[in-house]
Amino acid sequence: MRMVNVLLDSEWTDWLPIHVWLLEHKDGLIVVDTGERHDAPILPVVKLQVTPETDLGFQLKRMGINPEKDVQCVIQTHLHGDHVGGIGTFGKTPVLVSALAWQGMQGVSGWFTRQIAKVSIPSRLEPSIIGFSSNPFGSFEQSCPVTKDGAVKIVPTPGHTNGHVSVIAQSEGLSYFLAGDTSYSETAMLERVPSGFSSNDKLEIETHTKIQAFARQHATVYLPSHDPESAFRLAQKRVVQVT
Ligand SMILES: [Zn+2]
Repeated sequence: MRMVNVLLDSEWTDWLPIHVWLLEHKDGLIVVDTGERHDAPILPVVKLQVTPETDLGFQLKRMGINPEKDVQCVIQTHLHGDHVGGIGTFGKTPVLVSALAWQGMQGVSGWFTRQIAKVSIPSRLEPSIIGFSSNPFGSFEQSCPVTKDGAVKIVPTPGHTNGHVSVIAQSEGLSYFLAGDTSYSETAMLERVPSGFSSNDKLEIETHTKIQAFARQHATVYLPSHDPESAFRLAQKRVVQVT
């Protein structure tokens, strides 16, 4: 019913960001999520302020970055439409996607997602499936190292979608937790409130509990994609306070 209410509600939030993250690593740049594209088809219940200048490919080129040559990999936290808009920008650069997320794009559910939910992913895309090992990382039983030095890892954070993942980048004693839609805000994670489009509330709340446990062990800057405070917390390196 919460999802139905989200669709029927005539009230709007303030404008929210759709964050894309660019990690500088000595082995090459890493992009986490690819945002919304200005010409992507959207559902009538959504309002967007996106332009050709906000497209990921345009912004990378403006920074002097060649998406096909300078980026070592792209990681998708999940495959909702507002996170995959620039997924076709990177040529042969590996695009890392969880097995569950990619399965969800196949068969009938995949057709529904592409046609009805307007998620446009190039048909030629052959993602690299994230290989989780039972290598615990903090409170997470499984993890997948992205870089040889282990500074960037992927952890499973199911709930918003079953195959949702987050990226943890560690630098100078801080863990930057790139949370995708694990929650829509830091407050929601701390209060264990499932997101509006959570596919599994129980799993999402368990994920919030694991993130809190991780943040007790590691000084963590928590950065959800749509939290208006994320950019400020990143700039201030403000660590999440877990009681
Ligand atoms: Zn989402």
